[in-house]
Amino acid sequence: MTGTAERAPVIRVGDKDNVAIAVAPGGLPAGTRLDDGTVLTENVPFGHKVALGDIEAGQPIVRYGEVIGTAAGPIRCGGWIRESAVRLPEPPALSELPLATRPAPATEPLEGYTFEGYRNADGTVGTKNVLAIATSVQCVAGVADHVAGRIRRELLPRYPNVDDVVALNHTYGCGVAINAPAAVVPIRTLQNLVRNPNFGGEVMVIGLGCEKLLPQTLMPAEAEGGSLLSLQDPAFTGFGAMVDGIMETAERHLERLNGRRRQTCPAADLVVGVQCGGSDAFSGVTANPAVGFAADLIVRAGGSVMFSEVTEVRDAIHLLTPRAADAEVGRALLREMAWYDDYLQLGGADRSANPSPGNKTGGLSNVVEKALGSIVKSGTSPIVDVLAPGERIRRRGLTFAATPASDFICGTLQLASGMTLQVFTTGRGTPYGLAMAPVIKVATNSVLATRWHDLMDLDAGRIATGEASIADVGWELFHLILDVASGRKQAAADKLGLHNALVLFNPAPVT
Ligand code: CA
Repeated sequence: MTGTAERAPVIRVGDKDNVAIAVAPGGLPAGTRLDDGTVLTENVPFGHKVALGDIEAGQPIVRYGEVIGTAAGPIRCGGWIRESAVRLPEPPALSELPLATRPAPATEPLEGYTFEGYRNADGTVGTKNVLAIATSVQCVAGVADHVAGRIRRELLPRYPNVDDVVALNHTYGCGVAINAPAAVVPIRTLQNLVRNPNFGGEVMVIGLGCEKLLPQTLMPAEAEGGSLLSLQDPAFTGFGAMVDGIMETAERHLERLNGRRRQTCPAADLVVGVQCGGSDAFSGVTANPAVGFAADLIVRAGGSVMFSEVTEVRDAIHLLTPRAADAEVGRALLREMAWYDDYLQLGGADRSANPSPGNKTGGLSNVVEKALGSIVKSGTSPIVDVLAPGERIRRRGLTFAATPASDFICGTLQLASGMTLQVFTTGRGTPYGLAMAPVIKVATNSVLATRWHDLMDLDAGRIATGEASIADVGWELFHLILDVASGRKQAAADKLGLHNALVLFNPAPVT
C-alpha cells in the first residue's frame, strides 16, 4: 500500500509469483512501498510488472504460478521488468502432455435462467432475426452491398420483426486453389456461415456465374425454400433488372423471417463465443477470469461456450490437455496445435509475432504471459469437444474451436461454428463488432472503460480496484448475456452501428 491509498497498487495472482502488476492509474513512482515491503527502485508503468525479489540471470519469472520466461540479466527487487528483460521459454512439447487427467470439477446444475430467443426448425436458437445474403464469390460484393442497402431502406420498414439484412461478403470463391487440401477451411466456413442460427434457416445465395466455388455449394441440404441467383443469368438485362430480381427474392425470405417471434428458451440454448483483442496485463486478472466465471455458469446451465485463438493457447496447452473430457478430445487438441505449428513454420513465422506492439506497451512481455492470461476465459469446465476451423458445434458444454487469434477471423469462424453471441475482452480498446451476432465488450481496466464509456459494455477493471470480485463481474456478465440475447439490451457496437467485415481463414494457396 502506498501511504494513505486505500487500494492495493499492485496485483499478484499466484502464491509462487515473483512479480506483481502495477494497477494504479498512471503507474507507480519510484519509492512506492508495497504491502510486502518491496520498495520500487524505478517508475513502473500502469499494467507492467515489478520484481518482488531479486531475480538472477537465467532464473524463472513466475506469473499466474507459471513460468513466463527467464531473466535475461539480473533484475533487482523493486525493479520494472521490461520486455527485453524476459527470455521466451520453449513451448511445451506436444508429445508428452497429460490427456484428460483432471477430474471434472464438482458443480451443481444451474437452473431457472432463460432468455427470449428465436427457435429454429433444427432446434437451434437465434439471438437475432437477420436476413443474410450469402455470396459465392467476391466479384458480387458491390452488388450485394448495394442490394442490402436498398432492402434496409425500402423493404425492412414493412417487416418490423426482422432486425437487419447483411451481405456475407468475403474475398474467396475464385482466383484460389479450390482443390488444395487446405481449401476445405474457407469452403466449410462459407457453408456453415449461412447456417448460423441468427439467420433463421433462410438461405439466399448470390453468385456470379463463372466462379470456381459453385453457388450451390453454399446451399445446405436441409434448407427449405432456399434461393440462388447468378448475376450472369441471361434473364437479367442490365444492373436494374439484376437488383429487381434480387429484391423480389429477398422479399420472399423477409416474409418468412417476419413471422419469427421471440420465445422463452432455457439458457441451455445459448451458444456463446469468447475471445480477446487488444489485450493488456489486466486481461488475465480482471476481464478474462470474469468471462471464465460466466462461461462456467453457462456450462452449468447446460449451454455451449466456445473458446478459440490457437496462438494464444499454444503456450499454455499443458494446462488444457488435462481438462479434455476424454483422451480423444485431448488428442484433437494436440492435432490442432500441431497443425498450427506446421502452418506457422511453413509461412516462416514464429510465435513471437504475437503479442502486438500495443500488447507490449500494455505490459505483456511475451506470448506465454499472454496465453496464461487468455485461457482463463475458458473457465474451469471440462473441454468436451474440439472443432477444426469453421466446423459446426456438435456438443453442449465447453468446446475449443480452433481459430487464429485475429479478432476478425476468430469472429468469422465462431459465427460459422454457430455462435449466436460473442463476449470480447479488451484492455487497449477496440471498437470491434459483428452485424451477424451481438458482441459484448468487456474492458479489462477502468481507465479504458471510462475513456470509452460508450464503446464498452462492462467494466471488469473494478476487479483490480477492489470494487467488485471476479464472481460479481462474472454474474453481471451472465445476466448481460441473457439480456442481450433476448434483445432487451443492445450491445454498444450495435447501438453505434459499428460492424467489422467478415474475414475468412484461407490457409490454401491463392492463384
Ligand atoms: Ca483475438
